[in-house]
Amino acid sequence: MTTVGILGGGQLARMLALAGAPLGLRFLVMDTSAEACAGQFAPLLVGDYRDEAALADFAARVDVVTFDFENVPAESARWLSDRVPVFPNPGALGVAQDRLAEKSLFRELGIPVPPFADVASRQELDAALAQIGAPCILKTRRLGYDGKGQFRLRPLSGDEAAAGGAAAGRMPGADADTRGVATSVAPAEGPESRSGHVGATQGLEPAGRTVGATEGTTYAEASAGAGTAATAMPAPVQQVADAAWAALGSQAGRVGLILESFVPFDRELSVVAMRGRDGGFHAWPLTENWHVDGVLSASLAPARVDRALVETAHGHARRLADALDYVGVFALELFCRDGELLANELAPRVHNSGHWTIEGAETSQFENHLRAVLGLAPGATAMRGHACMLNWIGELPDPGPVLAEPGGHWHDYGKSPRPGRKVGHATLRAETPETLAAALQRVGDALGRQAQVAPVVAALRG
Ligand code: ATP
Ligand code: MG
Ligand code: MG
Repeated sequence: MTTVGILGGGQLARMLALAGAPLGLRFLVMDTSAEACAGQFAPLLVGDYRDEAALADFAARVDVVTFDFENVPAESARWLSDRVPVFPNPGALGVAQDRLAEKSLFRELGIPVPPFADVASRQELDAALAQIGAPCILKTRRLGYDGKGQFRLRPLSGDEAAAGGAAAGRMPGADADTRGVATSVAPAEGPESRSGHVGATQGLEPAGRTVGATEGTTYAEASAGAGTAATAMPAPVQQVADAAWAALGSQAGRVGLILESFVPFDRELSVVAMRGRDGGFHAWPLTENWHVDGVLSASLAPARVDRALVETAHGHARRLADALDYVGVFALELFCRDGELLANELAPRVHNSGHWTIEGAETSQFENHLRAVLGLAPGATAMRGHACMLNWIGELPDPGPVLAEPGGHWHDYGKSPRPGRKVGHATLRAETPETLAAALQRVGDALGRQAQVAPVVAALRG
């Protein structure tokens, strides 16, 4: 009997365990919290990821190790890999844990990325701002997720500049619902209890702690001249840099910072793909994603893009997986603008934008991840019809309207409600875009979630 060890016991581990049951697999999940929701379906080992005795106990009881979240200390993954097979390999995990290493690798592989610069000090922030210009985003290099640990900077309008700059505002040209994220740093106690230990170890601020700026000044402002003034920065730009530094500067020495150009994308896409132990690469149809407040809100598959774009995206994902000798399922997040793709980040695990594969594809991402790490033949990634996944954040709505749909599927992660926490999702599946749009509209209306379904309905009908 094969036992799969999973580091991290959130909903991804839970869905892995559910997918593995028909394959006759056993699981052991390690998490820092006894409340981890995967524990409802798999034996749970509560322990610190840096505790050698706990890791040794874990390693002795499993045949292979994988992850449900990427922020397991890389050295713990390496320690385990000396004792038991670990997939994806700790090197790949390490790259995906650091936005700078990740984006540098993308660039090396010829995968286009938005302009970016490492920021290690206040002076380097000025230099990076001068080089990259606004709008842009300052992000922690490590430990950010769900848009945590980010600070957005945008150009001032002429009036704002005349008024002295540093006014509160919203980023133009992007998801209008996206509230600036910037003020809270990656939480020590995040949506997933398991992240608590890592955050605490690395000295991050607790969840929701406002660092420097208030809610209303989430987006700082930079003057339009920011891209050209290499030495003498206009005063408003300095104010912007000050606000960004006040919010995130304390993280520079702990988890590092990176400044990235803001991409006024037409759409966000993700490649969810797997690579087997034999190097075989298999991707699901491209997925289109919508985020609210930096958190995934809805995913649609197949994305409405042409064949050439799908092939480019899959080519990027394959090169990346080959370069990392990656084994298992991963997601590559992409921005699409004017038909061009820019890579955002790599998630070295099953991914929220692939949840639709449970009902929408011949083989789900969870089953294929298990097949990959165990060296079994992969299942087909072909999809059936069209699928949309809706994330439930904070609390679960009434399941009735989803269950009433012929292609409606409900997933309750068994977590207690908490603001910002992913507590479940629904997938609606249909044979045609029109019938999927109609089903989404009915569910959105019944649940009072018209805003969540609207962009997907528009995309399907557009
Ligand atoms: P997660 O791991 O949960 O996907 P994260 O905290 O690692 O999130 P990102 O994926 O980098 O953060 O950013 C979250 C969202 O913020 C993106 O999906 C996108 O909507 C927006 N965003 C991030 N970076 C940029 C950028 N450079 N230009 C435009 N939008 C961006
Ligand atoms: Mg991320
Ligand atoms: Mg992301």
